Amino acid sequence: MSEERSGWVVLKFGGTSVSTLENWQKIVSVVRKRREEGFKVCLVHSALSGVSNILQDIVEQPDENDLMQKVEQVKQKHIDLGKTLGIDTVDLLANDFEELGHIVKGIELIGEAGYRVHARLLAMGELMATKLGTAYLQKELDEALWLDARNYIKTIIRKNTTERSQIISAVSTTDYDQNTADALDKAGPVIVTQGFIGSDSEDKTVVLGRGGSDVSAAYFAAKIGAERLEIWTDVPGMFSVNPHAVPSARLLNHLSYEEAQEIATNGAHVLHPRSIMPARKHQIPIHVRCTQKPELSGTVISAEASEDEALVKAIAVRSDVILVSMESLGMWQEVGFLADAFDVFKHFGLSIDLVSTSQSNVTVSLDPGLNDHFQDIRDEFVEDLRRYCAVEVIEDVSAVSLLGRRIRTILHQLGSAFEAFQEHQVYLVSQAANDLNFTFVVESEQVDRLVRKLHEQVILQSGNQKSFGPTWSQLMNEESESKDDGEAWWKDKRGELLTLMEGNGSMYIYDTDTVKRYAELIQNIDAVSFGLYAMKANANTDILKTFHELGFGFECVSIGEVEKVFELFPDFDPQKILFTPNFAPKSEYEKGMELGVNVTLDNIYPLQKWPKIFKDKEVFLRIDPGHGGGHHEHVKTGGVQSKFGIPRFEIPELKELIATHNIQVKGLHAHIGSGIKDPQSWKDVAVILHNVAEDLGGVDILDLGGGFGIRENETQAGLDMKSVNESLNQFKEAHPQYDLWVEPGRFLVATAGVLLSKVTQLKGKGEMQYVGIETGMNSFIRPALYGARHTIVNLSKLDHPANQTVNIVGPICESGDKLGIDRLFPSSEEGDVILVANTGAYGKVMSSNYNLRAPAEEYVLN
Ligand code: PLP
Repeated sequence: MSEERSGWVVLKFGGTSVSTLENWQKIVSVVRKRREEGFKVCLVHSALSGVSNILQDIVEQPDENDLMQKVEQVKQKHIDLGKTLGIDTVDLLANDFEELGHIVKGIELIGEAGYRVHARLLAMGELMATKLGTAYLQKELDEALWLDARNYIKTIIRKNTTERSQIISAVSTTDYDQNTADALDKAGPVIVTQGFIGSDSEDKTVVLGRGGSDVSAAYFAAKIGAERLEIWTDVPGMFSVNPHAVPSARLLNHLSYEEAQEIATNGAHVLHPRSIMPARKHQIPIHVRCTQKPELSGTVISAEASEDEALVKAIAVRSDVILVSMESLGMWQEVGFLADAFDVFKHFGLSIDLVSTSQSNVTVSLDPGLNDHFQDIRDEFVEDLRRYCAVEVIEDVSAVSLLGRRIRTILHQLGSAFEAFQEHQVYLVSQAANDLNFTFVVESEQVDRLVRKLHEQVILQSGNQKSFGPTWSQLMNEESESKDDGEAWWKDKRGELLTLMEGNGSMYIYDTDTVKRYAELIQNIDAVSFGLYAMKANANTDILKTFHELGFGFECVSIGEVEKVFELFPDFDPQKILFTPNFAPKSEYEKGMELGVNVTLDNIYPLQKWPKIFKDKEVFLRIDPGHGGGHHEHVKTGGVQSKFGIPRFEIPELKELIATHNIQVKGLHAHIGSGIKDPQSWKDVAVILHNVAEDLGGVDILDLGGGFGIRENETQAGLDMKSVNESLNQFKEAHPQYDLWVEPGRFLVATAGVLLSKVTQLKGKGEMQYVGIETGMNSFIRPALYGARHTIVNLSKLDHPANQTVNIVGPICESGDKLGIDRLFPSSEEGDVILVANTGAYGKVMSSNYNLRAPAEEYVLN
């Protein structure tokens, strides 16, 4: 037979897929289906989940004394699975167990494992697992034959490669191979064989490197001219971004080989990058599918590229990239500078990934995956390179890549995603010559935010239904299923909310029980002695009364807020109010001192210009800890870009002013931003304030600010309050002399509030569907102002299937009047009640009468 379509499909199943009875039942039904469709099946599978890691441990720590215990673990995994599959594993694998024991005994005796032994040992995992798999298929299907992959995956010798890589990450040819095709045809129609293993020209066992089972399957597909290669894994396909970091990641319905190659090479771990080329060479379509959910169609990779597909398909991240920056003023005058410099890289075996050049600087990135040895040779390498230029090694940076086609044409869309980079550096920008990839190297810390933003802007807003399937959350049935059920209190009170909306316009509804639940979380922080409610978040009278009842103080940012507290609670102790104005007029400071509240100075100007107000009195000082944090640039309130707080370099002057006017600093205060999820953040602030307090002397109170983040939507994680508690306990133990205060706003009220409105009109513009509702940015400006993503549901049709992607928009004459972009929604109709979740903070207080449309009214559930 020649290389023509052969009737074979190659199915590859990974370790997780072959480790449980449920999955094996799914595998059987897939094989049965392919047989019914008329295919012959070549099933390639990996070792049982965890087995390769144990074997690898043996190789890496050959001198440990519990090696035989590891052998027992491996055996037990097979025996356990065998039991559930109804197979007598001890009998079936008796020889393999014996061989495994011998190999490991040998390693134990010698105390080391050379490459050959390494390959032999690792291969055992695949050999044993596939025997078990074959036995099960024989039992269930009556037709399955085990083949030893080492007879077909013959590896080749590559030039310039080490012995190690010839044995541990070997490669095979990707040509059609008549012998293999004939052998499989003879053994078929269902054969089971191993991924990851092969043999060299001396017929000795070699392995193909980690993740090599995908590559084996691709080799088999190429060698037998398969009609299709199916990679079955534990995720439902390839996604537009890492779904574990961004659950709104969209399934990629279709990719060209080139696109898939870029995505696989740039960090997505679903498909081994080396598995694409063999399939591409023979134009064999690759289907990436999910074993646990075989009903989903997954991602198809083929040669067809259609013009109406999205230009950017995915965003990939490679973390822990290392940059080497080479600076030399005269470099362009010197012929051969780059050759000399690159020669040093070559000498130290460093492989260069990205390159960017300017008149005086060349910066290159090293991919850590290929440069494991960098730290070992770092000093020597830098010293050598310094012969030609000044050298800086930059670490803790990551490469973020946009992947797709004609990327240059969409760069204008990226603008606001890069807002954060006013303060943070973009170290390197590189555009692939084929225009399939555009990469930015940035500080690793900034990556999550950048990726989310880019994803929202470039992928979610594109709305291209052909390229993008459902989101990860939808596929995994996680959409709007809040992990902490209490967060979706409105599901339990749905009936009450729908009744309230009968005959009413748009409304903010606040749930008092939820407010109390969050208040308790703050009051449970052991190290904090006093909590103040930052009333700017929501100044509703009933809400303020709840906090008053719960014993909270109030943090006020204007004299109006201070007066509101006294108006509601005339006998309120003024010392429980912290007044923290910023660039307020002199009169507000005078009034604050007169009322006896704690006045916070966040600038030395009032002390320089109006010292009389503070002379012989107590004040709080707001210190700029030098860094900001939070969900958006506009809510960061620390660092030089922010207008808040006294910079630390002014502290000497501050000390003089305080001494001159006999002012007592009662407390220090800092608030670095809003929506912070790093549980260490408040401790870090405490440490900085403590240093300043030491310098100033006499400080009793450290107010660590608010900013406690919440889970705003289904794509986010919440703040780990246990860790917040632990880290502040550590601080308090070390510095028991201080009273610690906090002043959250959002955390206390956001989750308790929902905005309800009704559908007015529907519109379809090609692929983009709009659901219009009665109120928009006039009631709730956060999505327009910060790009905030809030969970939105059709409360009237909560149980209906979400089967279309829509934008939810308001009636305001602004293009930015969008409450939700690209949301999966049920088919909606005029009058349906729409709920925007987690709108209890910075909702009503930031609303306006813009367009002379009155914002939503408030209603409190008690
Ligand atoms: N404290 C101060 C000084 C603030 O400026 C703010 C918010 O802007 C807060 C506390 C409350 O922040 P959050 O609502 O994020 O807790």
